[in-house]
Amino acid sequence: MSRQLPPLDLHAHIDVGVGARELEGLGAVVFAATRSLDEAEAALARVDAVTIWGTGCHPGVAASQDQFDADLFQNQMARTAFVGEVGLDGVSKVPMERQTEVFTEILNLVAGDPRIVSVHSARATNRTLDVIERSGARGVILHWWLGSPAETGRALDLGCFFSINSSMDPQRLAAAGVPAERLLPETDHPSGNRRGAFPRQPGSTRDVETKIAAAYGMADDAVRQQFWTTFAGLVESLDVDRLLPSVVRAMLTRARQNQR
Ligand SMILES: [Zn+2]
Repeated sequence: MSRQLPPLDLHAHIDVGVGARELEGLGAVVFAATRSLDEAEAALARVDAVTIWGTGCHPGVAASQDQFDADLFQNQMARTAFVGEVGLDGVSKVPMERQTEVFTEILNLVAGDPRIVSVHSARATNRTLDVIERSGARGVILHWWLGSPAETGRALDLGCFFSINSSMDPQRLAAAGVPAERLLPETDHPSGNRRGAFPRQPGSTRDVETKIAAAYGMADDAVRQQFWTTFAGLVESLDVDRLLPSVVRAMLTRARQNQR
């Protein structure tokens, strides 16, 4: 018998000081993106049951781009299945040359030692795909993707996934030919769910499931199961199971059983 798994959230920002109980109380498996290696260092010292903290270097944050250190990043990568938030930003004050340098270094490391990677591409969609293509990195999830239909097709060819929040229109991705198997949900809390349904908190992606169900002609619970199947497939193909919390690994086992 199929048992319902909790909602997934592939990209949220959470204060590193929030208590472990509070995060468990969200009732969801949440990938928490960090913006700097300093923030990641504090996050990765935590022990959480259903929160997967990432190591990240946000393209819009000048201090973290200036201070990026590939050795420290690699050291942090050894401790987590998740890299995020990384990428390029066309309106950032950080020169595009520097952003590209940092993002390239990160994806080259990921190409050699795969992780689930949450990528920011605001107003730099084509350049972001260029770096992904050159690096050969797998496991890329384009977060809040707003590329053109042609760029979306290119992202599909590069094997990218797309994480969708409630501020986005999944119909656009459906029209660009993105299959449901390439989609995952995100809140991008606190930015992406500003106009979302209550409660506006990390892990609250039921409204996204409903929107995707409507755009793809699926039932809401089939969408949830598809997300878990996609997540399980990613974990398997990237071989990052060992880096996930044991509670999440048990849920992945259940997701694989539900498929049968
Ligand atoms: Zn973000």
